[in-house]
Amino acid sequence: MTFTYEALPMRVVFGTGSLRQLPQEAERLGLRRLLVLSTPEQRPLAERAAGLLGDACVGLFTGARMHVPAEVAEAARTAARDAGADGCLAIGGGSTIGLGKAIALSSGLPVISVPTTYAGSEMTTVWGLTEDGRKRTGRDRAVLPRSVVYDPALTVGLPVDMSVTSGFNAIAHAMEALYAPDASPIVSLMAEQGVRSLAAALPVIAADPGDLPARTDALRGAWLCGACLGATTMSLHHKLCHILGGTFDLPHAATHTVLLPYVAALNLPAAPAAEQALRRALATDDVPQHLARASAELGAPRSLAELGLTEPDFDEITAQAQAQPYANPRPVTEGALRALLSDALKGTLAP
Ligand code: NAD
Repeated sequence: MTFTYEALPMRVVFGTGSLRQLPQEAERLGLRRLLVLSTPEQRPLAERAAGLLGDACVGLFTGARMHVPAEVAEAARTAARDAGADGCLAIGGGSTIGLGKAIALSSGLPVISVPTTYAGSEMTTVWGLTEDGRKRTGRDRAVLPRSVVYDPALTVGLPVDMSVTSGFNAIAHAMEALYAPDASPIVSLMAEQGVRSLAAALPVIAADPGDLPARTDALRGAWLCGACLGATTMSLHHKLCHILGGTFDLPHAATHTVLLPYVAALNLPAAPAAEQALRRALATDDVPQHLARASAELGAPRSLAELGLTEPDFDEITAQAQAQPYANPRPVTEGALRALLSDALKGTLAP
């Protein structure tokens, strides 16, 4: 066995009620003038965080949007500059954390993040910016949050449909980390446990979104899966989701959820150790079928058609996917890619 593993410098504060530790986290980092970022929908939560920070908050920017449009990033940078901010607090899902990263990328301002979904962006050095309908992404250490506060109580209001798809988004990170070219034993442990936690918690959450122990398990799983995403190079699944979100505007987490079983069916035969880990974590002998059935039973969309994709879109998707090389446990021909898309379009694995 040979591997290389580089740990990212991340600080995690985890636990119900940990939001109250924000002032200490800011102080620890020497931050006295934080700009609080959120989406418009999560403004009340941003105001709560601002209240906790007291004098250490210099303002709110509540215009975060999906995929970080360049004009939103620019407006937020201006707000940070005008307020004389010495850092940002990004409270919300991947879109808000992405906005914090966009500010950090150009200004170097440190970010504290408080994730309220299972997307995992807070654990990665990956940033994204969308301009003229194209999403650019890159990696930069400057965008990695300095401190991440996970408070499961903040996730009880995440609607069931988003909880489920966001959970499968996290599971997708773990699957691709298990067969990544830069996989390693520590990442595989995190991936397997992350999938196990989420798979056990999601049905409980679907039945009772207020179940705090299940919310805690799910967020712990999301942290582990996010750490896997941050530690490895993603493959075909993330490549396709990036194209479907960036060019066809398909919803991020739902797209991950629908596509995952089909990529699993294609890739796992070429990645036996990853398949074994997922079989253990999901307690199944048939990972693709299990993923499709479990997500459908929890009410997630079953096909790409449901998300608005059509067969004529395949030309553009395959062209973009083939244009730039990406890691994958097996080579993917155009024919295999079209067959995968066709199955996912119809939802052939869904019950
Ligand atoms: P999101 O951040 O877009 O959130 C979706 C909606 O849910 C928003 O309106 C948000 O305000 C709301 N919401 C979030 N948490 C809530 C809660 N607890 N209760 C009620 N409402 C809540 O969704 P997401 O799936 O977390 O993030 C998707 C974005 O993140 C995409 O743009 C994706 O590309 C990016 N992402 C980036 C990385 C990375 O490493 N850079 C990783 C994962 C995702």
